[in-house]
Order: sequence, then structure tokens, then C-alpha cells
Amino acid sequence: MMLAVGKRLKVRQPVLLSRVLLAMKNVGELISYHGGCHCGAVRFFVLVSEYLAFDCNCSICRKKGFLHLIVPRESFTLLSGADVLNTYTFNTGTAKHTFCRICGIHSFYYPRSHPDGIDVNVRCLDGDVLSLFKIESFDGANWEENIAQIRGS
Ligand SMILES: [Zn+2]
Repeated sequence: MMLAVGKRLKVRQPVLLSRVLLAMKNVGELISYHGGCHCGAVRFFVLVSEYLAFDCNCSICRKKGFLHLIVPRESFTLLSGADVLNTYTFNTGTAKHTFCRICGIHSFYYPRSHPDGIDVNVRCLDGDVLSLFKIESFDGANWEENIAQIRGS
């Protein structure tokens, strides 16, 4: 459903939305970033309020090298690529590991940890943005024991 909404939006609209949000009081500092996959088919727009990302050691993240930036769904807009996204699931099947079927890059997905959120790969943001982020380790290999740590943040 999120994908369909994002697809209907024209590219410029999310930029205008960010300006509106930035102009509002009590929103805090929301900085807008664009990002996407390698081939450019998948493009998104994300509002960042905290420069914190998690480096997870679970079975899939350690292989993907995914650095997790978890944002509310309303802070994420898919600009293009809904038609090229494939989804990989495993274990409980709750997390929807979306990836570009053309270039194979996992630029964002729907995480098991935050059902109402979007998990963006900091490595897929445009430009040298990674250096702005504090990277914390998350012991996702022992998911059940540790998940409360990042759900509370
Ligand atoms: Zn791609």
C-alpha cells in the first residue's frame, strides 16, 4: 500500500513536503535525503531526525552489509521502482526484504523489529552521508534477547 502511494506522487512533491515539515514547529530537525539502488530504478526520499544506524550481525545482515536507519513509514516515500522490487523472506516471514530485481541491491525493507517503520540502508543514501552517522552494533544473531534495546530508542 505504501508503494502505491509513493508511486502516485510526482517527484517534486516530497521535496515540498519536507519544506513544510521543516517550517513547522515541534517537528525537530528533519533533514531530507534521497537514495536508491545501484541501477537507479529504485529511488526514495527519507526524512532523518537522528544520525544513528545499526550494524546487525544476524544471518542476513552480515552478508548484505546493511546499515539500518529505522524511520516511521510517513518519513519514507518511494519515488520510483515499485514495479522492480522483489521480496525475500525467511524464518518467521515477518520482515519483507525488498530488493531491486535489476541490480540486486537492498536499499530499504520492511523490518520485523518495527512493523510500522521502514528500514533504510544508510549505504544507499546519495553522497557521503554515511560518515555523518553514529554506527552502533546490534546483536541480531540473538534477536529475541536484544530486540527491546532498539525498539525503545
Ligand atoms: Zn536497481
